[in-house]
Amino acid sequence: MTTLTPVLTKTWDQPDSFTLAGYEREGGYRTLRRALDMEPDDLVQTVKDSGLRGRGGAGFPTGMKWGFLPPDSPNPRYLVVNADESEPGTCKDIPLMLANPHVLVEGVIISSYAIRSNHAFIYVRGEVLHVIRRLQAAVAEAYEAGYLGKDILGSGYDLELVVHTGAGAYICGEETALLDSLEGYRGQPRLKPPFPAVAGLYGGPTVINNVESIASVPAIVENGADWFTSMGTEKSAGFGIFSLSGHVTRPGQYEAPLGITLRELLDMAGGIRAGHRLKFWTPGGSSTPIFTDEHLDVPLDFESVGAAGSMLGTRALQIFDETVCVVRAVLRWSEFYAHESCGKCTPCREGTYWYKQMLKRLEAGQGSEEDLETLLDLSDNILGRSFCALGDGATSPVVSSIKLFRDEYVQHFERGGCPFDPARSTIWA
Ligand code: NAD
Ligand code: SF4
Repeated sequence: MTTLTPVLTKTWDQPDSFTLAGYEREGGYRTLRRALDMEPDDLVQTVKDSGLRGRGGAGFPTGMKWGFLPPDSPNPRYLVVNADESEPGTCKDIPLMLANPHVLVEGVIISSYAIRSNHAFIYVRGEVLHVIRRLQAAVAEAYEAGYLGKDILGSGYDLELVVHTGAGAYICGEETALLDSLEGYRGQPRLKPPFPAVAGLYGGPTVINNVESIASVPAIVENGADWFTSMGTEKSAGFGIFSLSGHVTRPGQYEAPLGITLRELLDMAGGIRAGHRLKFWTPGGSSTPIFTDEHLDVPLDFESVGAAGSMLGTRALQIFDETVCVVRAVLRWSEFYAHESCGKCTPCREGTYWYKQMLKRLEAGQGSEEDLETLLDLSDNILGRSFCALGDGATSPVVSSIKLFRDEYVQHFERGGCPFDPARSTIWA
């Protein structure tokens, strides 16, 4: 039986967990002192050896990304933390920054030192004012204590850290759109390559990492790469925060080794709400193909979830019981993607618009079998043909729900309305 591994979430229930005093009482900034005595390359090697993979969804090896920075660029290097958490269902970075902003700040300082950067940014969603205030207060405390600024702890190392707020566009979580936004432009994805590691912020070599990835660095440096690889699976090492939401008895954040299953997590979370049963769920937010109760024992690591036909993504486990209409859920997600599409490329801009129109009709019981084929054909024209991951992600709920719940779509147009909602269904009128 897998058990929880509270590292990042360990102090969340303490009333002063977000303050410098509370963080230092638990040993906070101790690792920074050790790290500043180490060679930057040794820190990069430790993170490489740990096998830490990006916690923002894509799972790209963090140490490898750091290793891509060109050694001879004349431009300054930057570290940018992607704190623009916006994926539907994804809600781990916001509570992490709220409850323990200093672990992120310490991670930023150690990571910036490791990649030899003197400028770091935390790009955070503009809507989460309470989190922004916590971060700003933590950064101010860190400056005051000599952990940021000139000659940090007498090491000769300088680092300036800026908290920058976005303006609420989902696309600004895409790393290159984030860079455009940070530079003051309208946030739209850039062509890759060059990857940000080679030419990123202001054209300089830039590492962009997710909040949870950077917050994991102090614990890895403190305890060693072997400690981290002793948890999780061979190719998906360590622990991660699993966010359970929806029809679950005790929704919340469950920090556990990668490879844990939904069945085990549900046991810890009190199961599906009383009197109901699991119908479908997302393993990693709305951009990942949905699963059903047949996938309860799929180990939640990058490889196993991929082999089962979905993606681990952000470990945003949205749980839906049998009372939920899958067509309506997919319509709701599709409305989100249509609203958030930045409009730069035709497959995504037009495709997500047509998803919305067709799903609205289907959900209202006015579609036909032909519409399902058109939806799949449309998905073929979006997937792999969009400029960034938003377009691809939009296809996931549509394609997977038609595959797993085709009968439910058919019921809608056969009955002339949603079978789950007598009030809105023409057949019940
Ligand atoms: P990606 O696989 O294109 O890139 C992942 C990272 O690796 C990037 O930082 C990229 O620059 C780097 N990289 C990849 N190949 C490289 C190379 N050859 N050289 C240098 N660097 C390289 O994925 P992505 O588009 O950055 O992210 C997509 C993921 O984001 C999705 O899987 C989804 O789960 C996730 N997502 C998360 C949220 C959220 O709120 N956290 C929102 C939307 C999407
Ligand atoms: Fe913009 Fe969508 Fe194209 Fe991405 S896929 S560039 S969000 S239009």
